[in-house]
Amino acid sequence: MKFSILADSLNKMELTAKRLELTQYLVELFGNTPQDVVSKIVYLLQGKIRPDFEGIELGVAEKLAMKAIAKSSGNTIKKIEEEYRKRGDLGQAATKILEKKTQTTFLVENITVERVYETLFKIAKLEGTRSQDMKIKYISSLLNDATPLEASYILKILLGTLRLGVAENTVMDALAIAYTGSKENRKALEHAYNVSSDLGKVAETIASKGLKGVEEFEITLFNPIRPMLADRVKSEEESIEKMGIEFAAEYKLDGERVQLHVEGEKVALFSRSLENISKYYPDIIEKIPKALLADQAILEAEAVAINENTGEFLPFQELMHRRRKYKIEKAVLQYPITVNFFDVLYYNGKSCLEIEYRQRRKLLEKIVKEDDFAKHVPMTIVKTENDIEDFLENSINSGCEGLMLKMLDKPYQAGSRGKYWLKLKREYRNELGDSLDLIVIGAFFGKGRRTGRYGTLLLASYDEDTDTFTSICKVGTGFTDEKLDQLYQILSDKVTIKRNPRIDSEMEADVWFEPELVIEVVASEITLSPIHKAARDVIRKDAGLALRFPKFTGKIRVEKFVEDASTNEEVVTLYKLQKKVAHDKSLM
Ligand code: ATP
Repeated sequence: MKFSILADSLNKMELTAKRLELTQYLVELFGNTPQDVVSKIVYLLQGKIRPDFEGIELGVAEKLAMKAIAKSSGNTIKKIEEEYRKRGDLGQAATKILEKKTQTTFLVENITVERVYETLFKIAKLEGTRSQDMKIKYISSLLNDATPLEASYILKILLGTLRLGVAENTVMDALAIAYTGSKENRKALEHAYNVSSDLGKVAETIASKGLKGVEEFEITLFNPIRPMLADRVKSEEESIEKMGIEFAAEYKLDGERVQLHVEGEKVALFSRSLENISKYYPDIIEKIPKALLADQAILEAEAVAINENTGEFLPFQELMHRRRKYKIEKAVLQYPITVNFFDVLYYNGKSCLEIEYRQRRKLLEKIVKEDDFAKHVPMTIVKTENDIEDFLENSINSGCEGLMLKMLDKPYQAGSRGKYWLKLKREYRNELGDSLDLIVIGAFFGKGRRTGRYGTLLLASYDEDTDTFTSICKVGTGFTDEKLDQLYQILSDKVTIKRNPRIDSEMEADVWFEPELVIEVVASEITLSPIHKAARDVIRKDAGLALRFPKFTGKIRVEKFVEDASTNEEVVTLYKLQKKVAHDKSLM
């Protein structure tokens, strides 16, 4: 398939944010795509080459891409930097530079999607000392044969700056229309995606085997299942209103969610955001097969740091010490854990997703033999507000965050946040009632004690409709010296010369970051703001929402995608809720 077909589509898609138009362009694109290239197209559309959980990252830095452009165009790096500064996008800068070159030379090759994909794949796999030179060689050989427009998209994919605003749902809509003639069939695709986390594989299946193939899609061991998530409730009373007369309550442990895939001695672990995290937990890999009465299983558990002497649960931050590149064995000894199982999704060749909670829990208790390391999450059946209150009290006393409430007769809804699971956290840690997970988009340099580090961070919420990160507050409190250092280290890798186009902020920061890091904050209230962009125009024209007195809680949410951060819809709900509480109080 000619790469120019894809480049033309990408070009059209970049110019619109309308979902219907995007879908239409995608349908046309799939119409022009041979069956065996569909999966590649789907990955490339998302700026990837394989599903996230395989951990294959392109990881090409701007500097390296500039060297490749220099090599292909015969220009100096300085000239390319100049053009880049002018245009704010390296892809566009390359287009401009290469246009000049194509006026003087003839293109002999027609590059194909397959060739671009294979080359990107090779680049991602390169390691070792000579890898930088090889990368430059591969990239410039593609750029040599590409038209300026093609070159610009190759670079955007390589640098991770392709921003089409096509959500997974839009791709699924288009696949359903292109291959079955009706958007109605998206449900089947969604199911397949939820159990495989691999949109490319889903696309390949619908293209080659049609709807029936997708409907028969099955869980595959070592392909993570998208996790089921919970809605929030604020009180015992509300819990009963929503859950009915009898339901399960489990401790909500404050650790890391782990999806374990086990077949005999072979074990793989996936995080909440489906990253393969096996390397951080060699103790789980070693010990869990012995605790299981199953040949094959996919299980969910919360890994929690513990005090080895007392067995007490320790907060999430303790566990994060394990997220290090080196000396993991030492961290395993220093930060011991228990693995607390709460669900079973697959058992000896069969999916358990359709089985009701009550039966899944029974099966889980049968499969996992408890010992010092492997545990069942404490659970009880509750009926009254008092029951919930008592269990909540116990949970908090043992160092947990609150409760997870689960309907007894419901299946496991992979990939959705729904009503069958609720989370209840007791102590309202701040007047707002809950914490927010926000994206770090920029920073201001510190003074005094904070000289040489970032003194204040600029944070954003996620706008699902526009797929952008809207500024919501500056935060400068709640940082210990240790956290300041840690954040400085993490964020230094994310500094960008030009602000990422998905960032929406009127405020000018000293430095801008690639929006990749999520941190947790609490605040005293949400107010209208003429400067900040969160939920702009939703409550009042020309005003956004902002956090008042925000404070960092100390939690760096490395397990979250930026798209999992607090959304503007949630911010608006919290804003309205706080208005309602104020109104109710004034009536008392
Ligand atoms: P939060 O920010 O509250 O951790 P979240 O957005 O990560 O929430 P939610 O679905 O809202 O995800 O809350 C469920 C999370 O709570 C899970 O991702 C898991 O890590 C954790 N958890 C702790 N105990 C349990 C349990 N018993 N059952 C399910 N999840 C649990």
